[in-house]
Amino acid sequence: MADTLFNVNVLNNKRSLENPVVEVKDTKKLTKFNGGESDVDPEAALANARHEFGEHGGVNMSIEASATFTVMEPDTLRKIFAGELGHEGDYYVYSRHFNPTVLNLSRKMAALEGTEAAYCTASGMSAISAVLLQLCSHGGHVVASSTLYGGTHALLQHFFVRTCNITTTFVDISDLEAVENAIVEGKTKVLYFESIANPSLNVANTPELARIAHKKGVTVVVDNTFAPMLLSPARLGADVVVHSISKFISGGGDIIAGAVCGSASFVNALMGIQGAMMLLGPTMNPKVAFELSERIPHLGLRMKEHSHRALEFATRLKKLGLNVIYPGLEDHPQHELLKSIGNKSYGYGGILCVDMGTVEKANKFMSYLQNYAHFGFMAVSLGYYETLMSCSGSSTSSELNEEEQKLAGITPGMVRMSVGYIGTLEQKWSQLEKAVIKFNEKH
Ligand SMILES: *Cc1c(COP(=O)(O)O)cnc(C)c1O
Repeated sequence: MADTLFNVNVLNNKRSLENPVVEVKDTKKLTKFNGGESDVDPEAALANARHEFGEHGGVNMSIEASATFTVMEPDTLRKIFAGELGHEGDYYVYSRHFNPTVLNLSRKMAALEGTEAAYCTASGMSAISAVLLQLCSHGGHVVASSTLYGGTHALLQHFFVRTCNITTTFVDISDLEAVENAIVEGKTKVLYFESIANPSLNVANTPELARIAHKKGVTVVVDNTFAPMLLSPARLGADVVVHSISKFISGGGDIIAGAVCGSASFVNALMGIQGAMMLLGPTMNPKVAFELSERIPHLGLRMKEHSHRALEFATRLKKLGLNVIYPGLEDHPQHELLKSIGNKSYGYGGILCVDMGTVEKANKFMSYLQNYAHFGFMAVSLGYYETLMSCSGSSTSSELNEEEQKLAGITPGMVRMSVGYIGTLEQKWSQLEKAVIKFNEKH
């Protein structure tokens, strides 16, 4: 096993159409050469990522569904454990550690985010917890945005304090001075925030936040779950990017998964024998990794359509007089910021919020949308092809108490919509409008 492996990086910038498909002598390893035109656009970077063929020449790689790997010589195992041989040379040992199929997906995640390396996990939460535990020791300190996914907030606010005395100061990250003041030099290890926050849809000024953090030796970790393709936090200065792949990247509403993207040294440390990923063990199943690999090629197309429809619906709902929060609208406080730091042509994201005033009205509206107009489904999560709607305050952000919700910009009547792309735009709009008309009749 494990002789030649073509490690394909950037070869020829200009002739991507003529990229030769190179058959490596070892028939197990067919690898396509690809030229790297530009790694700035995530779609271009993805197309340039190494494409691995299947064992028998299939266009898709074979699933390496093995928990353990054999070697030909006893000394090879010693060398693997000593770190002298590794996945770079196609040596694998055990699938809680690197697995080729998971690594294939991970390379795509690294290309998407413009990082040197990545590795995939069993969930978004496990990616987040592994990264934070890797970066913070007992007694460490985190500065985090006050607007975070409920699970992440609970992890930082309660769980880490209880289990390992890692404490967090939550700040409004749009107040750069407050962020700077919250950092305790020498003690603060991580600045943590979401590129587009859940569910307030505040957009983080990643370049400025990274500058402040780096000045004080703090590692910047960004959750990019809401904005794959449209924002590239690592290209804007973040050190580590985490994802819940369960959302847009999967797109099917059927898989729980996550990823950590960062420098090769960080990913290798996470995966090393003393690393958080290796010891806590949340690595991804190769069968899951294979399925997800097949969805990455159309992520760009999907994000464009999610964004296109969200902007269209946000604009029209606002015209009908509803209180709409969407970063694509000019009245959104970070509209200009997103325009200036976002990747061109992916729009402003697939999530919009409508504030209905009270939780009762929010519930009524969602009920009309689902049961009367058949516009979408009442469900948590996002990134599905159907529209998913939930009332954040009483569901995914219910880990936050009233005070914390207020700080996070969550109002009780806020309905979060992950706008789907099924059906025609006008068909779905007429359903949405029908529900609004019915709601207005009754209220
Ligand atoms: C869903 C979500 C998570 C958690 O991911 P899981 O895959 O459910 O573990 C983390 N961050 C954000 C922003 C999310 O939306």
